Amino acid sequence: MKKCRVFGQFPCCKQVWLAVQMVRRSHSVLASSGEVFRLIRNGEAVTRADIGRVTGLSRPAVSLRVSELLDHGFVVEHTDGPSTGGRPPVRLGFNAAGGVVLAASLGASRTQIAVCDLAGEPVAAAELTIDVEQGPDTVLTLLMDVWDDLLGQIPAAPIRGVGLGVPATVEFAHGRIQSVRVMASWTGVAIPPLIARRYGVPVFVDNDVNVIAVGEHRAVYHDEVGDMLFVKISTRVGAGVISGGRIQRGALGAAGEIGHIPVRDGDGVLCRCGNVDCLDALVSGTALLAQLVARGRAVDSLADVVALVRAGDAETMALVRRAGRRLGEVVASAVNLLNPAVVVLGGDMADVFEHLVAGVREVVYQRSTALATRNLRITPSKLGPGAGVTGCAAMVLDEILTPEAVDTWLAGNPEPAPLR
Ligand SMILES: [Zn+2]
Repeated sequence: MKKCRVFGQFPCCKQVWLAVQMVRRSHSVLASSGEVFRLIRNGEAVTRADIGRVTGLSRPAVSLRVSELLDHGFVVEHTDGPSTGGRPPVRLGFNAAGGVVLAASLGASRTQIAVCDLAGEPVAAAELTIDVEQGPDTVLTLLMDVWDDLLGQIPAAPIRGVGLGVPATVEFAHGRIQSVRVMASWTGVAIPPLIARRYGVPVFVDNDVNVIAVGEHRAVYHDEVGDMLFVKISTRVGAGVISGGRIQRGALGAAGEIGHIPVRDGDGVLCRCGNVDCLDALVSGTALLAQLVARGRAVDSLADVVALVRAGDAETMALVRRAGRRLGEVVASAVNLLNPAVVVLGGDMADVFEHLVAGVREVVYQRSTALATRNLRITPSKLGPGAGVTGCAAMVLDEILTPEAVDTWLAGNPEPAPLR
């Protein structure tokens, strides 16, 4: 190779220029419609000229891809961008109204159901009391009928995907229920095919605590915190682990099952898993109810427990604080292991957060390492019950709006997306 005649450097400018062209050509091979969609959605390239510059695609190739995305409703054109004198440039933007996703957070008793736009915002929603023990056939049919009702209340739009949270351990890749906490009749059932039969779109299913953790993280902490531990204390205890901005499901979907970690001073209480002194058997809402009943108190729901704490009942407050300390034992270990920036306490017992967290803080700051707790925040859930459907929508949107998923959609639907 020769030295450059202009700069006297090696290699020659022309060789550098040729190398740049090669890189641009290789990008243009890779820049599918899905990749162009990603650039538009992220705001990296918002005009046809930008897309050509970033990808190295020819003008006709850019036009072809943009037309495809426009026809299928993934992007929209805006003509109100900054003008430099002549004709205003046509800007391209992500089309949040270009479709909907169906979301539902199935609880042991309460179920939140929503139709969300492609930005994850609910456009129609309902809350139902469904007994999940009625089994998948009855419950899923009812769920789909409610989605159909909600779809009837909004302008027609193509359904792009479905996201479901269930109170059970889920093998995420297949949407199959593994070990169950409350849904015995669902064991081994793969949910996606049962829903895809009606809607013909991708269906994603995850554990209810995972979707709530994703919802809380996306809505409140997305821009500032990558590592978060979400602990849900309701009838059961469970956790969702966000690490590096992503939910950690573990090898079989059982990550975050902290309810069956034993604590040290538990009086030998038998847990339904067969072990003794599990967190679930000692600090869950069910456990607190049982402890109060054993003391002769007239309570029969978690709401009663919360009401007693709010009324300043000394015995109940002491029980909740002790539950907080026991929860703190397990959270302290998790903090040492994961070093989260924030621990969020959610679920029905979050209504008595200040009494619960006093015990949690006491133990966590005592037992976790100084470095892990230096900037640690322990805080109540800010999203409340709405976190479930927000998380379900975020989960399905993360999957269906990747460049690969958009390309798959376009390949499988050569015609523009049908309105339902
Ligand atoms: Zn257990």
